[in-house]
Amino acid sequence: MRTVRALLCVCICSFTFASSPPADNGAVNQVIQTALQPSPLQDNLRRLTDEIGGRVPGTRAMEHAVQWGMQAFSAAGADLVHSESFEIPYSWSEGATEMTATTAHQISSTGVGGGTVLSSFRVRAVSVAWAPALEPVKHVPMLDVGEGTDADFQKAGDISGKIALVHTTVLKTWADLFAEYANAPPIINRALKANVKALAFMATREHDILYRHTNSGAGEIDRLPMVIVAREDGERIARLLAAGSLVWADLAIPNQIGGPLKSSNVVAELRGREKPDEFVILGAHLDSWELGTGALDNGCNAALVVDALRAIKASGVPLRRTIRFILFSGEEQGLLGSRAYATNHRAELDKAAGVVIYDSGTGKTTGFSVGGRKDLLLIAQALIGPLGQFGVNDLKPDMEWGTDHFDFMLEGVPTFVADQEEANYLENYHAVSDTYDKVDFSQLKKHVAEAAALAVELANLPEKIGARLTHDQIEQTMRDTNSVEMMKADGVWDDWVSGKRGRQK
Ligand SMILES: [Zn+2]
Repeated sequence: MRTVRALLCVCICSFTFASSPPADNGAVNQVIQTALQPSPLQDNLRRLTDEIGGRVPGTRAMEHAVQWGMQAFSAAGADLVHSESFEIPYSWSEGATEMTATTAHQISSTGVGGGTVLSSFRVRAVSVAWAPALEPVKHVPMLDVGEGTDADFQKAGDISGKIALVHTTVLKTWADLFAEYANAPPIINRALKANVKALAFMATREHDILYRHTNSGAGEIDRLPMVIVAREDGERIARLLAAGSLVWADLAIPNQIGGPLKSSNVVAELRGREKPDEFVILGAHLDSWELGTGALDNGCNAALVVDALRAIKASGVPLRRTIRFILFSGEEQGLLGSRAYATNHRAELDKAAGVVIYDSGTGKTTGFSVGGRKDLLLIAQALIGPLGQFGVNDLKPDMEWGTDHFDFMLEGVPTFVADQEEANYLENYHAVSDTYDKVDFSQLKKHVAEAAALAVELANLPEKIGARLTHDQIEQTMRDTNSVEMMKADGVWDDWVSGKRGRQK
């Protein structure tokens, strides 16, 4: 997952300061040059995606992926490798979702056999993830609720017990993705109020591409059965309804839902020599959805983290602080692995010297979002100076939700999330088509170099790049970046205020 929330922030402008060279450009260049050399990057990712496949927590594939991570880190030369488990409240897997639409239409009465006839067609559909099951239902009327606004629902009339078809727009930009996530919860609220049987969202991708999506934020089971229907099928149903035809659906969503499950983050270290207790985190999530094989989201960046460790070790550059390389699990269910890590390691986060996260496929990195930390901009601009050769120039002092830096940001730790061009990420996002062949390896190699360089620079600064913010400072940063509404929309604000999530007072 990765949704950019910059739209809700006032300060989306990029700050560009005159770069001053970092303290040890030679060491940074050495890391970059080593990272660009041939490496097991491609084969590591091929094994993770083609051999292991999509990686949903609670599945054998996810367990195998954790083993993959441990072995890959060891082979890359880690000083220490271990896994840390955490709990996800429910397990979920899709059964054989089936949907058929039936419509009535008139045959001309001039010949024999005129009158109303029925015709049916199969609707290609998948369940929304972590949504409840639906016992098979037959001949349930479908109604079009437009884009699912209040006005749309009112216009649709009585939709109690019916299946509501929701229109969407084709996903093209980060802003579209943000809107897709933001729109769903209010639509679900309206559907619950209207007592609909199930929601059918038109896919936001064309050409029959189906994808996995979740609207529940913390691994809880959602409130209503929901499917995503192939855009072409959804448009066909919408046209039939608009033309005045009746459409009924047979629908079965036999999802399997179970009790709590354990999943694991994989953690490797290269130990610092001068300040081994202080640490930088370079992370990416290892889990993925399972319709495809999770190559762009986020297998490529899990492989990047492994390869960055290899490059740093092979460069021979000494580290002042420790670097922890972490492959998080449970990200797609609501940042659950990184949240567990930040919470469980809260007592040592004063020693955290920065968290760097990659989670947007292989589109070119343009810069980093720095979690609202304007105080870091000057030094960070100097640190990314050597990355200008890759087109990495911009720092955005916005706070964003949507990937594994989030709970570290809420703990006051400096965070750096790679901002990347969309490239082919969105068309394949969480989709059947998110496979190894979509990965741009020449770009990914550059990202390995960037990530390794930034992690080493953060680890080797004379002092940590910035202090850990207090609870009040974090809240002030939320206000300064107009992020409070975002926190509320994501359902995080109440937990922040009550102390259930983020830095304690
Ligand atoms: Zn992701």
